[in-house]
Amino acid sequence: MSFLVLESIKKSFGQTQVVKDFNMSIEKGEFVSFLGPSGCGKTTVLRMIAGFESPSDGAISINGRNQNALKTNQRNIGMVFQAYALFPNMNVFDNVAFGLKVAGKSKTEIETRVKEMLNLIGLDHLSDRYPYQMSGGQQQRVALARALAPKPQVLLLDEPLSALDAKIRVSLREEIRQIQRQLGITTVFVTHDQEEALSISDRIVVMNAGRADQIGTPSEIYNRPTTRFVASFVGTLNIIEATVIDPSANTVKVGENTIRLRESIGALKGGDKLSIALRPEAGSLLENAKGDTSLTGQVISSHFLGSVIRTKLEVGGNQISFDMFNSPDAVLPQSGETLTLRFNAHDFLIVRD
Ligand code: ADP
Ligand code: MG
Repeated sequence: MSFLVLESIKKSFGQTQVVKDFNMSIEKGEFVSFLGPSGCGKTTVLRMIAGFESPSDGAISINGRNQNALKTNQRNIGMVFQAYALFPNMNVFDNVAFGLKVAGKSKTEIETRVKEMLNLIGLDHLSDRYPYQMSGGQQQRVALARALAPKPQVLLLDEPLSALDAKIRVSLREEIRQIQRQLGITTVFVTHDQEEALSISDRIVVMNAGRADQIGTPSEIYNRPTTRFVASFVGTLNIIEATVIDPSANTVKVGENTIRLRESIGALKGGDKLSIALRPEAGSLLENAKGDTSLTGQVISSHFLGSVIRTKLEVGGNQISFDMFNSPDAVLPQSGETLTLRFNAHDFLIVRD
């Protein structure tokens, strides 16, 4: 049985259901991200795991034990929030010691454990500092140490990096992941940032309006999105409207282009519409490029973005973005120009609404 199991969790506030039949099984030591836009219910699910909210329906279990009747302090969970929620009137040492004092640990035990935690986050030299004397990144590391000090069975992180500058955000997420691996602690990390989720997770739950739209490894989520929502939220994929030509041959039409899809188009009939996701980096312009499929369209715009040049093509009523790597002799396609892109048929992914 999985270590942390959320089974048919629902949550309503008044008449509004904000979590709708949420299911998830997390293995011991796994790092799972909840990824989704603001308001989709990420924090609410996290708060239910921690026991700050009770589910309107469904069961939460940790290590085989049902948690529904347990209070927050009986669940042995560590939590880090977006805003640095350190106690402002306590120094670093006392902040990290807090949970240990509440648990009634001895003075020696507390000293040893706090030192160990400050060592882990590389802040042992700052134990006398107060929160206002530290940067945001340092405060979040102290918050992490405070959460981990009582050896929780699960670590919950609610957008812990969102308030930090881009550079610190990247270095701290790597540090969090490294500490998590070192301790082997089962972790749920909430974020609305797709790159963040893709870069540090074992698995990602993409949440949409209170539901888990897709659960998978970062590569599965990015390369094989199953819904239109996941395709557009994770990786800004193109969504193309295609028309079925021949279901038995798996062929569809996009503008004047015929594409033979790898995935079965199932029970659709000739003339039916179908949504297809296509990554901007999948296509290639080169004459000799590999690929068994092509799309021809007119250039709408082309922009230099640094490492890539992003060009928007109009193909049969669809706007399709494609990226090509920059090089010193790269030429920006001109508006109105007709271009043919080469693809592999397996780059075209059928997505449902
Ligand atoms: P996220 O963390 O994904 O941004 P939340 O879980 O915070 O989303 O919120 C999901 C929805 O539930 C939002 O529409 C929010 O306004 C609503 N909500 C959250 N907490 C409460 C509450 N205590 N009372 C009423 N509505 C709430
Ligand atoms: Mg939130």
